[in-house]
Amino acid sequence: MQRVACIGLGRMGHGMAGRYLDAGFAVTVWNRSRAKAEDLIARGAQWATSPEDAAIDADAVVSMVADDEASRAVWLGKDGAAATMKAGTLAIECSTVSYDHALHLSRELHTRGLIYIDCPVTGLPDAAASGKLTLLVGANAADLDKARPFLAPLSTTIRHFGEVGTGTVYKLINNLMGAIQIAGIAEGLAIAEQAGLDIKLVLDAIESGVAASPQVIRHSKRMAARNFDGATFTASLRHKDAAYAVALAESLLADAPVMGRAAVAAYERAKSIAPDDDEAKMIEIVSRPK
Ligand code: NAP
Repeated sequence: MQRVACIGLGRMGHGMAGRYLDAGFAVTVWNRSRAKAEDLIARGAQWATSPEDAAIDADAVVSMVADDEASRAVWLGKDGAAATMKAGTLAIECSTVSYDHALHLSRELHTRGLIYIDCPVTGLPDAAASGKLTLLVGANAADLDKARPFLAPLSTTIRHFGEVGTGTVYKLINNLMGAIQIAGIAEGLAIAEQAGLDIKLVLDAIESGVAASPQVIRHSKRMAARNFDGATFTASLRHKDAAYAVALAESLLADAPVMGRAAVAAYERAKSIAPDDDEAKMIEIVSRPK
């Protein structure tokens, strides 16, 4: 039986760990706060006292935590997983991290004889819990082949962009474009509301018009209804992703990424007001009448 260590059991990581249990892996789990692990333990997962403890005897370690700081802590921190992983073990980072962090982490783990798979994902928590994520992989092709048995429970869609870091580049541009769109819909709807338009007509027009994307359609309906139940992706995470993407853009492009910076500023504001609320709450933040 193959052993997988799952580190980070938030909205996404919890569902992913459940997929490994359902697929018959021996699963060890660790989360900063243990409460999120209890039902997984009841389903057969083994609790570890630290990432380092979780990684002992693992064939693959899968991390799904918030950001660079959390990723650094769980892999390279004082009780990080790298301390006990055997040479040749797979280190699969699914968290959305910055490009520089992905490259740094890859180098650090490589020098310890570990195999790093850059594997951010798209898909909401329900996709994580049902094995329907899209995996955005940056890895050497032979390394990816070794990782495939550990990726299969998470997804049937693997987009292999190239070497380590390329999966993260795509994830960051994807989420930057999302940030720009979501901030844009909030402003568009707020203008329409304040101008007194019939919002049902506006939603119908958006849905069938050329400015729509699946993201625009989903968020415009939720924003118009002020339906922010069950936060799936928070303002804080959206801000983080947009800021990482803008940092990458600044390292590559001669001109400042104007749209990207505007989205970062919009989400900086959302994060300062309601960091853990759904990103769609942007509509309330931009809706104040004059
Ligand atoms: P979440 O529910 O907020 O969970 C964050 C996880 O990171 C929790 O396990 C949290 O531990 C852990 N964490 C935070 N800071 C930490 C630290 N300093 N040390 C150790 N652990 C730390 O977030 P999520 O929605 O699952 O997102 C996880 C990752 O997936 C993020 O990188 C996000 O950008 C990405 N993502 C999310 C979605 C989505 O729809 N939600 C979709 C695609 C990708 P505690 O439980 O103890 O707080």
